[in-house]
Amino acid sequence: MSSWSNWAGNVDMTPVGVLRPHTPSELADLVAEAARAGRRVRPVGSGHSFTAIAAPADLQLSLEHLSGVLSADRETGRVRVLAGTPLRTLTRALDALGLAMPNLGDIDAQTISGALSTGTHGTGAALPGLAAATVGLRLVTPDGRDCWVDASDPELFGAARLGLGALGVVTEIELACIPAYRLRAVERPDSLDAVLPRLQEHFDAHRHFEMYWFPGTRRVNTKANDLVADEVDEPLATWRYKLDDEFLSNTVFGAANAVVTKFPRAVLPFNEIAARALTERSYTGPSYEVFCTPRTVRFVESEYAVPREAAESVISDLAAWVERRREPISFPVEVRVAAPDDIWLSTGHERANAYIAVHQYHAGAYRDYFDAFEEIAAAHGGRPHWGKMHTLGLEELSALYPRMDDFRAVRDRLDPDRVLANDYLERVLGP
Ligand SMILES: Cc1cc2nc3c(=O)[nH]c(=O)nc-3n(C[C@H](O)[C@H](O)[C@H](O)COP(=O)(O)OP(=O)(O)OC[C@H]3O[C@@H](n4cnc5c(N)ncnc54)[C@H](O)[C@@H]3O)c2cc1C
Repeated sequence: MSSWSNWAGNVDMTPVGVLRPHTPSELADLVAEAARAGRRVRPVGSGHSFTAIAAPADLQLSLEHLSGVLSADRETGRVRVLAGTPLRTLTRALDALGLAMPNLGDIDAQTISGALSTGTHGTGAALPGLAAATVGLRLVTPDGRDCWVDASDPELFGAARLGLGALGVVTEIELACIPAYRLRAVERPDSLDAVLPRLQEHFDAHRHFEMYWFPGTRRVNTKANDLVADEVDEPLATWRYKLDDEFLSNTVFGAANAVVTKFPRAVLPFNEIAARALTERSYTGPSYEVFCTPRTVRFVESEYAVPREAAESVISDLAAWVERRREPISFPVEVRVAAPDDIWLSTGHERANAYIAVHQYHAGAYRDYFDAFEEIAAAHGGRPHWGKMHTLGLEELSALYPRMDDFRAVRDRLDPDRVLANDYLERVLGP
């Protein structure tokens, strides 16, 4: 059996077998059969989680053949899709229907079910994470059920919209989409000292706002995306895209990271140069193109949601730590915002958050940096992204999620024999 590893390459496992059903009913039969035989099954999407959340303990369940749009109502924006649909496929299919997701993260390689199951989010003060767009889902549970879950069962709906793959296997999802929209992106180099004091203002002034801070420097790059009329078409010149996004952000950045990993003292001047290399640019495009950028340089990442008003303190504390330690960190820190929702295990559960993400080159040392970051985030009630590296276990997470016990009770009911369990779930949800 061949081995499986996640995108970052920091988690690898060899599943005992791989199941590749072609229909939701075939999937339900396979899960029921595995449960009867006392096997464990772990659904997997595109493997883009940095945690071992998708790591199979026994059988891996691939949804690669369960991809595509099943039905769409342009009037209501309701679109039903198969759970294994990659976001890249989904966004293009929606565009052809004149529809779009209300928001997206910064890549589109994930599957829709993988993205929803870990609480994937974008940025936007008025916009919650992606799972808030779910109006219903078809769930195959190890106790033999194949059911449709929606707001008519508020308890199950509260839990299953963001289920960590712990309650059942999602085979279909109905999404509340909105009419297709275009965005103007304005990317601007700036200084941390100018942007940080006005961060909340920036969050509120744009449909989407994010800031990248280059550790060890006082330099940032900001990106603001706002709605623009359909007829405005000022695309990024191909040469500029190839230079900035492909060559500088990926090719040169990757090569430079390989060098600074060998010569860590070169990181601080490298960050200064990388930040200075950025120049202001503005362009328009369909929302799904503006949100997503190519990521070919592998990295590891940890991200915490903190109450949005704590963002400035977290960044200042992190900047002070980096200054003190002069740690070689060659990737920028990303700062985003999102609106609250009512989903039980959502980082946005009943709280408006700022999202702060730290990254390090996949071959670079990250432990001290990520530990320090976690400590700072913990002081502000930080909730970790379920798909990004963190060290929290059930005890700490129970203090952060008021509905954790309710979620665990639903899990006990739907998967009493822990057919879906793996080590990560055991750590965060208990045995
Ligand atoms: C380069 C990069 C950029 C990223 N950018 C963002 C970002 O902008 N915002 C953000 O919030 N996150 C971001 N992420 C994190 C990513 O969105 C999440 O980790 C997401 O879960 C990955 O989706 P996937 O399809 O790869 O799922 P996987 O990692 O394969 O699986 C994730 C979880 O979903 C479960 N699962 C998958 N399919 C099903 C199913 N059908 N039924 C039940 N459970 C299922 C798996 O069991 C597992 O628990 C990024 C990750 C990378 C590598």
